[in-house]
Amino acid sequence: MAKVLIIGAGGVGTVVAHKVARVPQVFTDILLASRTKTKCDAIAQALGGNKIKTAQVDADHVPQLVQLFKSFKPEIVINVALPYQDLTIMEACLETGVNYLDTASYEPPDLAKFEYKWQWAYHDRFKKAGLTAILGCGFDPGVTGVFTAYAAKHHFDEIHYLDIVDCNAGDHGKPFATNFNPEINIREVTQRGKYWEDGKWIETEPHEIHKPLNYPDIGPRESYLIYHEELESLVKNFPTLKRARFWMTFSQEYLTHLRVIQNIGMASIKPILYEGKEIVPLQFLKAVLPNPAGLGEHYSGETSIGCRIKGIRDQKERTYYIYNNCKHQDAYRETGAQAVSYTTGVPAMIGAMMFLTGKWQKAGVFNTEEFDPDPFMEQLPLHGLPWHELHGIDLEL
Ligand code: NDP
Repeated sequence: MAKVLIIGAGGVGTVVAHKVARVPQVFTDILLASRTKTKCDAIAQALGGNKIKTAQVDADHVPQLVQLFKSFKPEIVINVALPYQDLTIMEACLETGVNYLDTASYEPPDLAKFEYKWQWAYHDRFKKAGLTAILGCGFDPGVTGVFTAYAAKHHFDEIHYLDIVDCNAGDHGKPFATNFNPEINIREVTQRGKYWEDGKWIETEPHEIHKPLNYPDIGPRESYLIYHEELESLVKNFPTLKRARFWMTFSQEYLTHLRVIQNIGMASIKPILYEGKEIVPLQFLKAVLPNPAGLGEHYSGETSIGCRIKGIRDQKERTYYIYNNCKHQDAYRETGAQAVSYTTGVPAMIGAMMFLTGKWQKAGVFNTEEFDPDPFMEQLPLHGLPWHELHGIDLEL
């Protein structure tokens, strides 16, 4: 008997709600809460059969969260609202004795910079309270950490080179749209590039380093080196890494739109006065861009995300590639959401399941690679995300 509270009713929240409702043997009581209750109600209605309850909450306010947690008494909260809400939800968890899971690291709203330091600072308080916090349990971050831990456990004595490769070879039919929350997405992809090499971080201009990489069942796609949050925890948790990088594919069309958006100031997060009212240009842009949760219906193609690793086993150099491909239409048929939301929501559900079934339970704040990868890897294909391994191949990197 386990009660779960999901916060956030966007694209990812839709998938989490669908997936959690399909595992009643683990999740016996489900509450979906978000800023706009009508969005929760629409998801509950699509699921049918009174499977989940809904509530309104403003997760920026700890007292509101505390009240909700005290009345529902969840064992774990799955936070799939925005990164801005991570710390308030963690505070409310500590105040009420609830365990925590999210899919994106905290970002201060007025600083486009994601770092784990704010959430790692909660480790001692969670530990003292005997509570578990699982950070970044989507696909990337999330499964990429589990893949790396699985490789390190089963295939290498030491891992030396890690390249996380994220390809979306889908077509949503719109001139420009983001696959998850536009504000968070644009803040992420316009940052300077950064990677780890020989014990230090190396910064690049945004999108300065790029090359075509071949993705399984997709073929070559231009891939751009960007900074991504899991690099920070992975280099800490796998100190044998000599280099760790993250690559993401972007189409020319996407990059052209992005350049224009930046050049005309619409990517800015500095408030401006518009007709006597303060607005943030990027938040205004979000309001006019397509809603990522609604892209699924006409989305064709697939995503391919994985880890390319080089290291040693029995004194010999080995190469290894582990990945998942996910078709947008398969995700849409099952949940009404596209593959980017799907590949994030499924691991969030599995992470909560790992906690509730006692497989991932330790007091403190942890990233996914700090738990045993095996039970999580077993569940991935059972819930729609099969994974594949290639050994001894040319990693292209
Ligand atoms: P959406 O914008 O579609 O959904 C966000 C939801 O959170 C909305 O329902 C929104 O409410 C709600 N929300 C926002 N602010 C508050 C608040 N103060 N209180 C309560 N609810 C709030 O985003 P996505 O579903 O695309 O993304 C969700 C999360 O998943 C993000 O943090 C994103 O970074 C992360 N993500 C992680 C990935 C991974 O692989 N690890 C990949 C993709 C996304 P309202 O409807 O009222 O706006």
